[in-house]
Amino acid sequence: MLKLTDTHCHLADPAFSNHLPDILKTAESQGVRRFIVPATCSDDFQAVISLTKIPSVHIALGIHPWFAESASEQDFHHLESLLKQYPQAWVGEIGLDFYDKAQTTKQREKQIDYFCRQLVLAERLHRPVIVHNLKATSAIVEAVKQSRFSQGGIAHAFSGSLEEAQLLIKNGFKIGIGSLLLNPTAKKARQAAQNLPLKDMVLETDSPFMLKNTLNTPANVRQIAEITAELRHISLEEVATATEQNVETLLATIPLV
Ligand SMILES: [Zn+2]
Repeated sequence: MLKLTDTHCHLADPAFSNHLPDILKTAESQGVRRFIVPATCSDDFQAVISLTKIPSVHIALGIHPWFAESASEQDFHHLESLLKQYPQAWVGEIGLDFYDKAQTTKQREKQIDYFCRQLVLAERLHRPVIVHNLKATSAIVEAVKQSRFSQGGIAHAFSGSLEEAQLLIKNGFKIGIGSLLLNPTAKKARQAAQNLPLKDMVLETDSPFMLKNTLNTPANVRQIAEITAELRHISLEEVATATEQNVETLLATIPLV
């Protein structure tokens, strides 16, 4: 039986709210049987937490770099207390987004500060992290070192060079191969899917986002796995077995109490 995990899907997003059971059923029919659902800001913590009633869902709680600037001290304490209350939760989606060149140094410093604090928290609570990284690989690695973060996690929606991927892998991350693969012209994503060691890759959709004019859903992990298999000239089962093992390795770092 084929078993795949969507390691990054925003199932708490309102885009799914009325038909989540169907979305999950369709995913399952494609072999996508496990889901990791990250939060993005304190406003959606409860919606994400409510998904813990679904046995195939694992959750992550964290503050996304887009919301770091407006996040308050209270939001941080809220996050900390929820992570203690939900010992199975990962920390995410956290990270750095330097895509906007108009960002001021101060804005970037605020992102870095919030990211480091969440890394320290994840280290203290022994949780893997889910990292959003846009044009910020060296700053991410710097933050990981500075925070003495060693729990590992996923560098999600990877879009960088092979060198950047290797740097992230060296610092404990699995590389999230995702919906960029569905675009035949996304050269770097295809290069990563083709060349990175299988033991360092996980699969994801980032649904409902990433596809123009179409609702992205976790079922698409099947196609992402198939394209990966095709690029590497190996079987779909081989991709599934290796990436599932990688998810298990990350889950095993969480000391469930
Ligand atoms: Zn996301």
